Amino acid sequence: MIKGNDPILLTPGPLTTSLETKQAMLRDWGSWDATFNRITASICEDVVDVVHGKATHVAVPLQGSGTFSVEAAIGNLVPRDGKVLVPNNGAYCLRILKICKYLGRAHVALDIPEDKHPTAAMIEEALVKDPSITHVAQVHCETGAGILNPLAEIAEVCAKHGKGLIVDAMSSFGALDIDVSKHPMDAVIAASGKCIEGPPGMGFVIARKAVLEKCQGNSHSLAMDLYDQWTYMQKTTQWRFTPPTHVVAAFHAALGQFKAEGGQPARGARYRKNCETLIEGMGALGFRTFLSKEVQAPVIVTFHAPGDPAYTFKDFYEKVKARGYILYPGKLTQVETFRVGCIGAIDHNEMRNVVSAVAETLKEMGVQKVAPKLLAAA
Ligand SMILES: *Cc1c(COP(=O)(O)O)cnc(C)c1O
Repeated sequence: MIKGNDPILLTPGPLTTSLETKQAMLRDWGSWDATFNRITASICEDVVDVVHGKATHVAVPLQGSGTFSVEAAIGNLVPRDGKVLVPNNGAYCLRILKICKYLGRAHVALDIPEDKHPTAAMIEEALVKDPSITHVAQVHCETGAGILNPLAEIAEVCAKHGKGLIVDAMSSFGALDIDVSKHPMDAVIAASGKCIEGPPGMGFVIARKAVLEKCQGNSHSLAMDLYDQWTYMQKTTQWRFTPPTHVVAAFHAALGQFKAEGGQPARGARYRKNCETLIEGMGALGFRTFLSKEVQAPVIVTFHAPGDPAYTFKDFYEKVKARGYILYPGKLTQVETFRVGCIGAIDHNEMRNVVSAVAETLKEMGVQKVAPKLLAAA
């Protein structure tokens, strides 16, 4: 694994990239250049292939972080008089609700605890209860806690009721199976700096062509107008407005490595092994995961903070960082947690090293009670 002097990022994007991917950024590109524009076209083809969408879907890249693409997808694919159902089990679902609010799209939340996932039956009930709902916006892996939501069965129920399905697949794309040829989806959204292991800076919306064709005039914003970006790109092969050229080149390099590794099945298997190694090692130190095994996605793991009074996240973070690993704070409101990502250009050996770094850190901090507060008090 590439370590150099940089710490390993155990965060769900940005994440640790390979040397080859970093090296792809050591070149300046003109945005008019035909070679550069072929790179863009190749990226668009590749990401559509990842979700088996060749026959039905097109990819529209967009400058910015992943949220920009989520916002663009909602703003373009949901007509101004549409209504969005958001099954809500975490921070990124809440973000979609906030986007709907900003964009003035009617929306309704289906609230679910952060350690549970929605079921097709729950969504069906919500759709039947409110026929004015036109779209479901579903987060695939809710990165807040790291929970996997059952996308295939949700796609089936949306199709059955004739509702559009918009999927925030930001932290699952490339790692978990998404098949739009089997499970109908209007849009799958992801970004460069997640499981494809590129640098952050661009997102993309893989949209059903027949749906996107009807989206002219829906967008609230010029910069976020996916329809315009798509039609302009078809006409000129160029991005509308300055593309993040270095990011595009590096994302292209990352996609090449993704394919060479064996695509989604191989990437998913590596992350699953990372995740299992991490949970096993941390478990041996006394840490408890927030999620049960059945709903844990192999992307990011939420651990309960130790109940020992000697523990503070800030101190823990700094001391683990000094050992070469960047952890991630928890994002739950009710309980104190921290998160460790399993994604990036790292393998299970790196995860073993992380566990050792955590063990040494606990010792240095004088943390003896690793079990969480609630359980420690009981
Ligand atoms: C990372 C992520 C996003 C996008 O976040 P940005 O900070 O805008 O890149 C959206 N949804 C999910 C589920 C994510 O994991």
